[in-house]
Amino acid sequence: MSTATLSFSELKERVNIEQVLPLVGISLKKHGTQLRGACPICKDGGDRAFVVTPAKGLYYCFGKCRTGGDMISLVARIRSCTVREAAEFIAERMGMTSKQTTPPRTVPQDGSPQPLSPKEGLKPLEYLEATHEAVQALGVAAETCTHFGAGFAPKGIMRGRLAIPIHDRAGTLLAYCGRTVKGETPMLTFPNSFQAESVIFNAHRIEQGDTIFVARDPLQVLLAFEHGVTNVVSFLGDITVDALHVLTVLMDEKDVPSVDII
Ligand SMILES: [Zn+2]
Repeated sequence: MSTATLSFSELKERVNIEQVLPLVGISLKKHGTQLRGACPICKDGGDRAFVVTPAKGLYYCFGKCRTGGDMISLVARIRSCTVREAAEFIAERMGMTSKQTTPPRTVPQDGSPQPLSPKEGLKPLEYLEATHEAVQALGVAAETCTHFGAGFAPKGIMRGRLAIPIHDRAGTLLAYCGRTVKGETPMLTFPNSFQAESVIFNAHRIEQGDTIFVARDPLQVLLAFEHGVTNVVSFLGDITVDALHVLTVLMDEKDVPSVDII
């Protein structure tokens, strides 16, 4: 490698996030296709809250951070430096003599860009705003919203909230939940007739045989997805006997070998 410009994307092509972990003192355990451990940044959320998905080159923290990113942003956070300095640190430690790096384009990470098309059931709301600033303030990119069919509701019963579609395990659209964008309570609202405890959010996207994370807030599912963690579902209310029963059924049906309730 010459001393010419090394772009962030070139760096990521040449270096895997797994190689970067030991450079900043992170050691994680392998769980299937992921690496998990305690979060080195917030140290919150238990000893499996921090997830690295090497295939996607991304990390996510289910603890206080509730955010993630690529190896460059990880190093920047651990070392409290800029992303440019982080990229230079990685390049240098990996034996690349980069003097200059160029910032990445802000292309969101995207597992599968196709929004789910519901089979039947409720009709999707057409007026939700994926690019609304209140949604972006939650840390959710427009592409993530589009993937989930979610967005800010300017009207309707979810007015002023992030409306997130909820499907049954077969992928039929059942209802929308309204997630607060300003920290109000309740955090989630539902249509009156909706039985929130009897549904697990995102269950229809879980693949057979996946280990899964179970969050308590659908927003966590969106944020985790954005950072490469796709095997996440969430409860939609309190963890009741009913809700745990539904989780057990899901585990049986999808052959889920292990569950981490976050
Ligand atoms: Zn954290």
